[in-house]
Amino acid sequence: MKTIFSGIQPSGILTLGNYLGAMKHFVPLQDEFNCFYCIVDQHAITVPQAPAVLRENIRRLAALYLAVGLDPEKVTLFIQSEVPAHAKLGWIMLCTSYLGELERMTQFKDKSDGRGESIPGGLLAYPPLMAADILLYDTDFVPVGEDQKQHLELTRDLATRFNSRYSEVFKIPEIRLPEAGARIMSLQEGTKKMSKSDSNQGGFISMLDDPDTITKKIKRAQTDSDSAVRYDKAEKPAVSNLMTIYSLCSGKTLEEIESMYEGKGYGAFKGDLAEVVVETLRPIQERYTQLVQTSELDDILTKGAEKASETANKVLHRVEKVMGMARLG
Ligand code: ATP
Ligand code: MG
Repeated sequence: MKTIFSGIQPSGILTLGNYLGAMKHFVPLQDEFNCFYCIVDQHAITVPQAPAVLRENIRRLAALYLAVGLDPEKVTLFIQSEVPAHAKLGWIMLCTSYLGELERMTQFKDKSDGRGESIPGGLLAYPPLMAADILLYDTDFVPVGEDQKQHLELTRDLATRFNSRYSEVFKIPEIRLPEAGARIMSLQEGTKKMSKSDSNQGGFISMLDDPDTITKKIKRAQTDSDSAVRYDKAEKPAVSNLMTIYSLCSGKTLEEIESMYEGKGYGAFKGDLAEVVVETLRPIQERYTQLVQTSELDDILTKGAEKASETANKVLHRVEKVMGMARLG
């Protein structure tokens, strides 16, 4: 059976972008693959996090993973910091990387922008840790959004570099991008992707937003200058983004949506879009509420960390051995 690995940061509450670009696709994969899904808290701390908020976001993320339909009997769900092999291999992958290639990462550039002399070192070391996350499970496929493409390419480069320097210990993973929704944009700034750590709350819809908030955010969402509901990514990026969300949440094609709103303008379109999004999130939110305070959630995470450690420790040992670190015998 082929293996899947994917991680999400508890750096806020998940957005509709995280759902449509990543999490939604995890569910059908659980029947076909050996899936490892991770709450990457060590990535979240690459920028400062308030302890109480981080603790809550970890729990919320764990509950959301299950609420979208992942079955803990089928997948391994775990918290990155509970499997020490991640930090250990992360260091090794950092030592395998070059400063130049890390500085070229667009996420590093975006997230360090405006921080002057105080750019956290963790932001630079983020991609090698992500490489470690993936490589520890002999991963075949990594389902992620488009923003992670560059990090995935670096992961492949680092694994290939390591393999040729020592011996073929790493499997080279492949990215799996969704056909649509790989890059949902901010509702307020059409050039920025939707992000859960965005300080502008109006830019994203959180998976836990209530119906009123969702409706308000969609009503206030940026549109383009004319009033036609037409898909044109270059000329009408804001409306095209809203149409993509509509399509993915309703199952209707972009053409169907265009003809439904021909001559009707943005008002009717946005009203219906709000309803479609609310109905998409409603069952997830209901399951989430039932799960989030249960001890069952803790049991699942404890078992997940044990299971993940078994595989991860074997791969780590293999790596340390070829490097001359693990004692033989
Ligand atoms: P942060 O702002 O803290 O980086 P984020 O919203 O970018 O948060 P991540 O935890 O970094 O979320 O990414 C989790 C997953 O969601 C990844 O697979 C990523 O590619 C995907 N993803 C993130 N943003 C979007 C988006 N706007 N559209 C589609 N997929 C996305
Ligand atoms: Mg991100």
